[in-house]
Amino acid sequence: MKYAIPIQKTAKSKLAEIDFDNLAFGKTFTDHMFIAKYKDGEWQDYKIIPTQALQLHPSVTALHYGQAIFEGMKAQRADDGTPLLFRPEDNARRLNNSAYRMAMPDIPVDLFMSGLDELIKLDSEWIPRGEGQSLYIRPFMFASDEYVGIKPSDEYIFCIIASPVGAYYATPVKVYVSEEYTRAFPGGTGFAKVAGNYGAALYPAKQIQKKGYHQVLWLDGLEKKYFQEIGTMNVFFNLGDRLLTPSLEEGTILAGITRNSVITLAKESGMEVEERRITTDEIFHAIESGKLVEAFGSGTAATISHISDIGYRDKNYELPAITDDFFSIRVKKMLDDIKKGKVEDKHNWIHRINTGTEAVA
Ligand SMILES: *Cc1c(COP(=O)(O)O)cnc(C)c1O
Repeated sequence: MKYAIPIQKTAKSKLAEIDFDNLAFGKTFTDHMFIAKYKDGEWQDYKIIPTQALQLHPSVTALHYGQAIFEGMKAQRADDGTPLLFRPEDNARRLNNSAYRMAMPDIPVDLFMSGLDELIKLDSEWIPRGEGQSLYIRPFMFASDEYVGIKPSDEYIFCIIASPVGAYYATPVKVYVSEEYTRAFPGGTGFAKVAGNYGAALYPAKQIQKKGYHQVLWLDGLEKKYFQEIGTMNVFFNLGDRLLTPSLEEGTILAGITRNSVITLAKESGMEVEERRITTDEIFHAIESGKLVEAFGSGTAATISHISDIGYRDKNYELPAITDDFFSIRVKKMLDDIKKGKVEDKHNWIHRINTGTEAVA
């Protein structure tokens, strides 16, 4: 079902004030936002309004007990200017998975999609045209009951905001394997995009940044032996004949849409993919014996981020330098071409936004 979304336009667009050559990540927002409220057991009062501050009572439960979840995706342009989204229904479904774990209400995928479509259509001029640039889209939901007491909130707010972002120059990342801190346990919230997961990861990240690393490569919390993932990326290890990535089974890692796309493309290109538990021993042994071709992270922000170093205890493992024939380089190009509509969309991953302005002769 398609929802009719009421639209309240801004009186004055800020578009002309934006310097698209110098976009700081996540600091500039488009003219409009989508907002919906959950009350009396249903989503209502959904609309697009000028981007504005929310007025919240200081007791709203999200601020105290953390019922807050989010998503992240990007809009890009095809060569003819058409805005393209990559697998947005998967983001809607994943948001609902996160909602379920946090005792929050589902948002109908159609309402999510209708709000998203209308917002991107209305603010389509905000999608940058420069090479590598995109419009970062942030859907999120939080508990809005005015009540200091621990229980699932009865009211929620769902919003979508969007921010034009510059080209992401993915320099290789140095990761450190933390044995001291844990991100996720079986039965916890590791598989959900829950705000608290990220807040809890800031201090460990700060500690390893002091040692010269960029991000934590998390281990399982029980045995400190199995790799999980990196900050906001899933992790892959390429052994030449096989591609290894931690499985989703324990519920401790995020089911990345990029991860799933990489696995699909790897299998199609004849690579064997193993989704399973991967031990530190196995990987460090593969590095020492020269069997590890490459390791990389996957996520919406950079698509693929190469890993140059892995720190573990007091050792630093330097990985081979990148060359153009690496699988990660090829798969990044494949994904970037699909996202920009440059190649055939065999998997139906692309969602086109009809702005009604293209192909004007
Ligand atoms: C968002 C996220 C990812 C990547 O997911 P994509 O859908 O590929 O962007 C991976 N790990 C964590 C912890 C994340 O939050």
